[in-house]
Amino acid sequence: MVAAWALLAGALAGCGAPRPAAGARAPLLVLVSLDGFGWDFGRYAPTPNLDALAARGVRAERLIPAFPSKTFPNHYTIVTGLYPGHHGIVGNTIRDPLLGRFALEDRKAVRDGRWWGGEPLWGTLSRQGGWSAPHFWPGAEAEIAGRRPDAWQAWNGGMRYEERVSWILERLGRAPADRPRFVTLYVEAVDGAAHAHPLASPAVARAVASADRALGRLLDGLAGLGLADAADVVVLSDHGHAEIAPERTVFVDELVDLDALDVVDWSPLFQANPRPGREAEARAALARSPHLRVYLREETPPEWRFRDSPRVPRLLALAEEGWSISTRGFRARNPGRVAGNHGFDPALPSMGGLFVAAGPSFRRGATVPPFENVHLYELFCRILGVVPAPNDGDFERVRGLLADGAPAAARAAPRP
Ligand code: AMP
Ligand code: ZN
Ligand code: ZN
Repeated sequence: MVAAWALLAGALAGCGAPRPAAGARAPLLVLVSLDGFGWDFGRYAPTPNLDALAARGVRAERLIPAFPSKTFPNHYTIVTGLYPGHHGIVGNTIRDPLLGRFALEDRKAVRDGRWWGGEPLWGTLSRQGGWSAPHFWPGAEAEIAGRRPDAWQAWNGGMRYEERVSWILERLGRAPADRPRFVTLYVEAVDGAAHAHPLASPAVARAVASADRALGRLLDGLAGLGLADAADVVVLSDHGHAEIAPERTVFVDELVDLDALDVVDWSPLFQANPRPGREAEARAALARSPHLRVYLREETPPEWRFRDSPRVPRLLALAEEGWSISTRGFRARNPGRVAGNHGFDPALPSMGGLFVAAGPSFRRGATVPPFENVHLYELFCRILGVVPAPNDGDFERVRGLLADGAPAAARAAPRP
């Protein structure tokens, strides 16, 4: 709601952004992403550290991802408050008419700021005088609108979680003037295990336990630095997983002549640009499957905010929950297996992510109804006492997470 934001910005400009009271500590936001950790994944293994955090803070029944429920689009929505159709990271694989192809594993594309629209939280903070160290957060490697985080590292999936935590703690241990006010920890174990194994499997249980241990190490480190009471810690995930099985596959080559299409991405959100003159035929052919919802870009549900981006291909087919989209040839080379996947309709409970937060700004011992992750940027800006850039979020949708409806810094400030 950009229009509502304009009013909010005006209000903030009028009374000044909430600032910590003289003598109070500057706010500190520690954001942890446990990639692919569904809101109910605590059922697969004990999570003592997450449970302890929730007991002294607030938990959401689930965190609703933005469309599509994939990793890069959602991580970037969380730090910009923009839907993927508005920030431009519309998938993990993207085709842009001018820039060409973007993929997670393409280091050059990931570092090219022209792919990343809007202003991420670290940019907002930097523009208003605060330091940030978003470790491994998607987008942190790029110079976006002329700004970079103060500290970041090139993606290295082989870096152990202990080392990631040490990197963060080393920065938080610096003198207050040199200390970042926003840091992130990224943990992909659960997503990796869930893509390769059934959800109720020992591998997923081990990954859930290892994610919880990484969180525990970070929380212990914060306590060791004397920051346990000062830090607002938010632990979330970008999406959950639904279980897929090889027998639930739509073979598109049995429905449509693939020569009619330039395919950008496959499953569970098939995205393609039809060759000239072949759109109607391709669309009608895909729509014959009872397990696909087929749209032209401009027909996608308005709540997805997916119609506006020139990076969204013309033709989209979204698989029913638990179904995959493939071809007979691909399946012959890559036998499917029972495992998890995401990218399905964000409104499905299985796509719901985790949200647990504790610290001086948050309510204690509360559980709130599901909310969309697009609102979090507004929340984070409030906590950090900075004026948000224009975005799609609405602070009123997340105010209920905060103690007395306001972040600690604003509550500490003297009343005018
Ligand atoms: P996906 O399951 O396809 O939505 O993507 C999740 C995967 O993206 C993770 O398992 C990581 O291996 C990978 N990933 C996460 N962050 C980054 C990053 N900053 N750069 C490259 N790849 C990443
Ligand atoms: Zn993910
Ligand atoms: Zn994944």
